[in-house]
Amino acid sequence: MPGFELFGDLERKEVNDVLDNGVLMRYGFDGMRNGHWKAKTLEKELENTFKTNHVQLVSSGTAAVSVALASAGVGAGDEVIMPTFTFVASFEAILMLGAIPVLVDIDDTLTLDPKAVEVAITSKTKAVMVVQMCGSMANMNALQTICETHDLLFIEDACQAIGGTYNNKPLGSIADLGCFSFDFVKTITCGEGGAVITNNSEYYKNADHYSDHGHDHVGNDRGAENHPFLGYNFRISELHAAVGLAQVKRLPEFIAIQKRNYNILRDAISEIPSVIFRKVPEGGEESYAFLNFFLPDLEIARMVSKSFKENGIDACFHYYDNNWHYVRKWEHLKTQKSLYPISAEVRKGLEYLNTKTFKQSDHFIGRNLSCLIKLSWSKEEVRQRAVTMAKCIKMAINNS
Ligand SMILES: *Cc1c(COP(=O)(O)O)cnc(C)c1O
Repeated sequence: MPGFELFGDLERKEVNDVLDNGVLMRYGFDGMRNGHWKAKTLEKELENTFKTNHVQLVSSGTAAVSVALASAGVGAGDEVIMPTFTFVASFEAILMLGAIPVLVDIDDTLTLDPKAVEVAITSKTKAVMVVQMCGSMANMNALQTICETHDLLFIEDACQAIGGTYNNKPLGSIADLGCFSFDFVKTITCGEGGAVITNNSEYYKNADHYSDHGHDHVGNDRGAENHPFLGYNFRISELHAAVGLAQVKRLPEFIAIQKRNYNILRDAISEIPSVIFRKVPEGGEESYAFLNFFLPDLEIARMVSKSFKENGIDACFHYYDNNWHYVRKWEHLKTQKSLYPISAEVRKGLEYLNTKTFKQSDHFIGRNLSCLIKLSWSKEEVRQRAVTMAKCIKMAINNS
């Protein structure tokens, strides 16, 4: 996945454009910048990439999720349905707005189970947030139907799935609003950065203003601009946008390399009958950022994970035992360890986490291994890796 592995002259050239004129900020200073508008140009590029009407760059993927929710009016006391398997950013972004994250089970797609979503809907539910984890997607048709039926906002976190598609539409562009991260370990990177994408011009205008202190961006005198509503600062800098501008041009190349490497690994381990691959919904094509598969049980998954590490197979994650991506280890959320007081409404709204179990999620995450696909591997390295992986899996299964 990581774009930082392939980093060079293109990125340097774009950053040097910014350094040459010294305008590190994306707004204003028109006279000094010699025509360089890196954030604006990257937004235009991304509109093409995602076949979407509007793109608002922000400072991170987490900011993108908060800005997307805020732009569509999600706030205090609203319930947002989200999956048990995702990065902690998902609930952070919801909590930041005083809204309540409602965690529900995932299925064999490793993303939101539509049946679990339907069961979790209450009169307070405002939005459903799908997270397209590890390069693939949920059953988007089913989720879209649920959102339409119950008049809910549909948000798509595609931070880990840039380049994937569903019914030929880019992931991130299917729901009402989509979110991307360009942090250092994502498929394309800005160093730090993120984007909100939408076809809704009202949401876009809100995102544009909200992420820059409420500035309405009318005219070319920042001090004289109006503030139609309250905002925050989630701006991306020109330096970060410049890096992203070079990287986004290489996205097709990155996806092609991921696909080649993914297929070599997949072919090798698909010969093992008890290995089952994560389900990709009909009409979907992965971004090939990760290879995900299920082993027969938790113990075998733990054994394979250990054996991978001992045999030099790095970056294969057993998320069941991971602190950052699965509900099992989110003690700080369950016990509400906050630096500052949390509103009574949110405190009460999170109480369910003390007793709720997620058996279905445990069943899938416990048996899942998720292997990052790197861009820097040579064909020979991937082949060697494939042989080693198959050997480790077979040995663990035979010894169990
Ligand atoms: C990386 C990531 C984020 C957050 O992105 P940052 O840019 O690191 O804030 C959000 N959601 C998912 C699924 C991610 O993988």
